Amino acid sequence: KKITIAIDGHSSTGKSTVAKRLAKELGYIYVDTGAMYRAVTLYMMRKMFVSENNFNEEAILRHLPFVDLEFKLNETTGNADMYMETENVEEEIRYMEVSKHVSRVSAIPDVRRKLVEQQQEMGKEKGVVMDGRDIGTVVFPDAELKIFMTASTEKRAQRRYEELKARGEDVEYEEVEKNVKERDYMDSTRKDSPLVRAEDAIEFDNSEMDLEEQFEKILKIAKD
Ligand code: C5P
Repeated sequence: KKITIAIDGHSSTGKSTVAKRLAKELGYIYVDTGAMYRAVTLYMMRKMFVSENNFNEEAILRHLPFVDLEFKLNETTGNADMYMETENVEEEIRYMEVSKHVSRVSAIPDVRRKLVEQQQEMGKEKGVVMDGRDIGTVVFPDAELKIFMTASTEKRAQRRYEELKARGEDVEYEEVEKNVKERDYMDSTRKDSPLVRAEDAIEFDNSEMDLEEQFEKILKIAKD
């Protein structure tokens, strides 16, 4: 019987790696909700409503209905890529510039309302692994399996730094660590659906445990 799997946690805890593999193994759909918040942020950055020294909430709200998001299967990687209308933005939404603004945009209640609705629609058939911050608490409070992933700030910053470097971005470790800390803070303290561990979520700390070990454990729980 197919179930809904919610994976939540702070940034760069290895959530998406685990979620993707879990979905492949079980033949489930994988939904990266962070990609959706990132895409909305990118859209607003391109319109210049969000930048280093500008945050025009009124304009964001006015343009929000026109943000058209869709996941499409990438035949080469076997993963779903984020599309904004007909444009593949999978790469661009991972840029450091987007990471810098995404937590602020995702704190806007109307932004969350729109994306949560779409996520619930995508997951209504079961057989879904969804990763984010509020999946087990808000999007699918009835998910049969909830995982909450944690890892030390240093470990996470290091992981994100290596990812960005591998993609050829010119970033300093300190900048990445600062961003990870800022997002932790904003995501956990925002008024609307802050990042908290659902009471019935199983917690995994992967500071020490490697992802392989972690994955095997979660897969076993999911299959039981
Ligand atoms: O998962 P990722 O780190 O790509 O998410 C980027 C940002 O999107 C998070 O820092 C958070 O501000 C926001 N987010 C959210 N709710 C989710 C997923 C992501 O607020 N379900």
